[in-house]
Amino acid sequence: MMEILVLVDHVDNEIKKVTLELLTLARSLGSPAAVWAGPGWSEEARTKLAEYGADKVYVADDQAIADHVVAPTAELLAGLVADKAPAAVLIASTGEGKEIAGRLAIKTDSGVLTDAVGLGEGFVAEQPIFGGGVNVRSRVVKGTPIVTVRLNSTVPAAAPAAGAEERVSVALSESARSARVVERVKEEKGARPELAEAEIVVSGGRGVGSGENFAIIERLADSLGAAVGASRAATDEGWYPHQFQVGQTGKTVSPQLYIAVGISGAIQHRAGMQTAKTIVVINKDEKAPIFEIADFGVVGDLHTVTPQLTEEIIKRK
Ligand SMILES: Cc1cc2nc3c(=O)[nH]c(=O)nc-3n(C[C@H](O)[C@H](O)[C@H](O)COP(=O)(O)OP(=O)(O)OC[C@H]3O[C@@H](n4cnc5c(N)ncnc54)[C@H](O)[C@@H]3O)c2cc1C
Repeated sequence: MMEILVLVDHVDNEIKKVTLELLTLARSLGSPAAVWAGPGWSEEARTKLAEYGADKVYVADDQAIADHVVAPTAELLAGLVADKAPAAVLIASTGEGKEIAGRLAIKTDSGVLTDAVGLGEGFVAEQPIFGGGVNVRSRVVKGTPIVTVRLNSTVPAAAPAAGAEERVSVALSESARSARVVERVKEEKGARPELAEAEIVVSGGRGVGSGENFAIIERLADSLGAAVGASRAATDEGWYPHQFQVGQTGKTVSPQLYIAVGISGAIQHRAGMQTAKTIVVINKDEKAPIFEIADFGVVGDLHTVTPQLTEEIIKRK
């Protein structure tokens, strides 16, 4: 079976869930080979990657990779593409992942597809385009297919494999060293899951009415173990911080469940959430465009409906 390289997304020695999703996806198309770039490699990491189906793990446990932004990882992957001739390379569709993918495509003279939400036979990728208004299927026709896949596009499933470790090294070029990381600042983490990675997101819009009222959204989110999001109208009003904005100019989320509360469903908002598996809407206007993409909708006042929903969820726990 042809190897499929999966770039491991890891922070502070912790493997991000999207890596397990990519391994699960890779398994359906070939033999997954994880690629660990940077310091922090451990037996624990190997065990985790093997548990999710990595037949092999290429390890470049090199501090220099972390010291020079994204270029070294692209050089490492380009070396592996040349040496191992994989069938494809899968990378998480984060800002960093997409930059690595673009650089890798240039280095290997290959085509690249970004923001895939599915990947099938022949490496045909499904991508939402035009702000999510249209879904297209595309295939790379030159070189090694390089595909970045959105977070939460696949449900990770364990399927133990060998996880055979192979050490690899990369001789960094001068240009790869031309940008250096000078400081890392840790983002304050609350108790809620990270918005872009969350399996459930509860978002509030202008209909919420005020910053104080966002407590209604937070309570519903907490009852479900969800992340909180907001429309741009809500963040522009200062009701919720900008880093929680979902949409074209905010974060893109692809959760299993997205609950939109008091959000009308403007195209720019949809662009960031419409690949959610299930969309639930609470809105008092039955003609609100968000209902067009809802799997389940409640026409009603969010101040009445949302607390009742929260109460029911808590009761059933
Ligand atoms: C270049 C550009 C980029 C943009 N990027 C983004 C982006 O990234 N993200 C984003 O969200 N927007 C973005 N926008 C803005 C977008 O066009 C909309 O203006 C915005 O999404 C509207 O937010 P909203 O749905 O919360 O507010 P509104 O459109 O005002 O909708 C509020 C909704 O709440 C409902 N409602 C009101 N009161 C209640 C109640 N008591 N109970 C239940 N329902 C109630 C109303 O019926 C209405 O449907 C962008 C716009 C531009 C031009």
